[in-house]
Amino acid sequence: MVIPGWQSLSYFSDENNLCWFLEPELGKEIVRVHKVVGNAVTQDRYIVVGTGSTQLYQAALYALSPHDESGPINVVSTAPYYSSYPLITDYLKSGLYRWGGDAKTYKEDGPYIELVTSPNNPDGFLRESVVNSSKGILIHDLAYYWPQYTPITSAADHDVMLFTASKSTGHAGMRIGWALVKDRETARKMIEYIELNTIGVSKDSQLRVAKVLKVVSDSCGNETAKSFFDHSYDAMYERWKLLKQAAKDTKRFSVPDFASQRCNFFGRVFEQQPAFAWFKCGEEIVDCEKFLREEKKILTKSGKHFGDELSYVRISMLDRDTNFNIFLHRISSSSNSTL
Ligand code: PMP
Repeated sequence: MVIPGWQSLSYFSDENNLCWFLEPELGKEIVRVHKVVGNAVTQDRYIVVGTGSTQLYQAALYALSPHDESGPINVVSTAPYYSSYPLITDYLKSGLYRWGGDAKTYKEDGPYIELVTSPNNPDGFLRESVVNSSKGILIHDLAYYWPQYTPITSAADHDVMLFTASKSTGHAGMRIGWALVKDRETARKMIEYIELNTIGVSKDSQLRVAKVLKVVSDSCGNETAKSFFDHSYDAMYERWKLLKQAAKDTKRFSVPDFASQRCNFFGRVFEQQPAFAWFKCGEEIVDCEKFLREEKKILTKSGKHFGDELSYVRISMLDRDTNFNIFLHRISSSSNSTL
């Protein structure tokens, strides 16, 4: 695509839209790709674009927290949770919200915000809210709810849903996420946050993501060539097959077992094949991250960052083929030698 030098001079993209910094072309392609994939309801929703879903997460906290004297609202999520959540929630020591820890053990009275990541980072399981109270306000992070990672079982229909180009197609560097929001006032406050935080979102990035989503949606209607999702599903399937086989062969580590479900997009039954492997070392190893780093020269993120045990680590399944193959070789070899 070509972006002429005179384009994007104004802060405004669409003055008649509540989200005045959303490029209309991006809004159109977001609605279209969700319709093609069937993974989220877009009808009667406000679309809020953000600099990654990281900014939208903060915008949602700003919008959903009470702004009265009741003090910071607790934000909880079931462990293992995405390791950035506690850091992003607490780094500015906000008077509006604070990290409240693992949703499974949360018992306090009063309102709280629960983050539901489905499929979950780091373990890939599908999730629902767990805190048993009517006072919970939910944010659904659906970054991985795409058919290359998980069967699409229904069109998600929650109050606040977050998506991102970082995971739909892997374009993390474009820094574009979008929120689908039911309630107008919530959307308005999220937009207010982004206005105060960055006066909108890069137009160049929005236009590039619009183009990427268009190509993805077009590929799904092309009978003669593999669609983007067919291609990326096959790549993930192949990697998970190799990793599961390595776990079986060596018996020195395990990866989660997933149930099969029917995917409405592909029209067939399959298991999760997440972007990350939630990898558990054998019982003789206490600190899995240290073992893999020192003995196998594999860099991972320890379970402790995700509110879980040291016997777990998170491993990316999205690296380049050469790196993934070296990784497989290292975890499969019985010696401590590396390639
Ligand atoms: N949510 C989850 C669950 C993630 O895994 C990530 C990226 N690792 C993000 C949000 C952040 O996405 P973005 O690049 O859109 O800020």
